[in-house]
Amino acid sequence: MTANHADSDARADLISYLDFHVEAGIDAALDERPHDRFAEAEAAQAAAPRAEPAPRREPPPRREAPPGEDAPLEFRRELPSRDPPPREPPRTYGNAAGAKPGEAADDARARAAQMQTLEELEALLRGFEGCTLRFTAKNLVFADGNPQARVMFVGEAPGADEDRIGKPFMGRSGQLLDRMMAAIGLDRTSAYISNVVPWRPPGNRNPTPQEISICRPFVERQIELANPDILVCLGAPATQTLTGTKDGILKARGRFYPYRLSDGREIRALATLHPAYLLRQPVQKRLAWRDFRMLKSALDGSAPGK
Ligand code: URA
Repeated sequence: MTANHADSDARADLISYLDFHVEAGIDAALDERPHDRFAEAEAAQAAAPRAEPAPRREPPPRREAPPGEDAPLEFRRELPSRDPPPREPPRTYGNAAGAKPGEAADDARARAAQMQTLEELEALLRGFEGCTLRFTAKNLVFADGNPQARVMFVGEAPGADEDRIGKPFMGRSGQLLDRMMAAIGLDRTSAYISNVVPWRPPGNRNPTPQEISICRPFVERQIELANPDILVCLGAPATQTLTGTKDGILKARGRFYPYRLSDGREIRALATLHPAYLLRQPVQKRLAWRDFRMLKSALDGSAPGK
């Protein structure tokens, strides 16, 4: 093997090693060199002198209480304190953070219902602190595309690229989604795109049911305000959250579900496979293609309302 071959093999190995980490959600370096924390801890333990048992200490002499110290709390004036300085008070937020998840979801629903435009809803989300995901995410990922479009796609939650850019479906899944849309004549000027959860869960983990229930009123209001003719749920979490089905995605996909808006109007929601799943299971693209053809017929068949 030539030196050039060896170099390019080593490079390919390194790239696939990095890819592996990015896939696992490890996408930021904390230091320039790796640390073996277990070895460091063992070495520190071995180097530490063995502790002698501490000599017994006599209790300190009783101190006279300064005047006022025995008084009930409400009567004490600002006596100099011997206690360590008080800790920072726990962080409290203007709304539901720290509240029980059910309360946070109720709070989200009440606030979302008051929003009359997508801009207001986005501004509300920018200030909303009831979902802890916002504290680990870099950006709010509200929407991309055309809010006037007849079709709205809803995914699960942003990943690293979306978090960095602040728009949904920007990474490899997004590129595949763009190609799938293009196959039926759609693009981001003729479709509106969002997610059930608008903040990236750390390390790309799945959003928890609690996080979904807190964010759900926002995406529901977003759907109402965008008012598409057809909603496309990408993957199981979006499908289950928005249609209420408990079926797995392979069973649920390829069907239209009634989706009722809060004013009583009904639109149709089509369940299909998530592009990220299709990247892992390309053989299933044929199923997604069937679904996208259903979407195209539905768009062609229904009167163009917008
Ligand atoms: N996956 C999603 O569900 N949404 C995105 O925005 C990106 C990837």
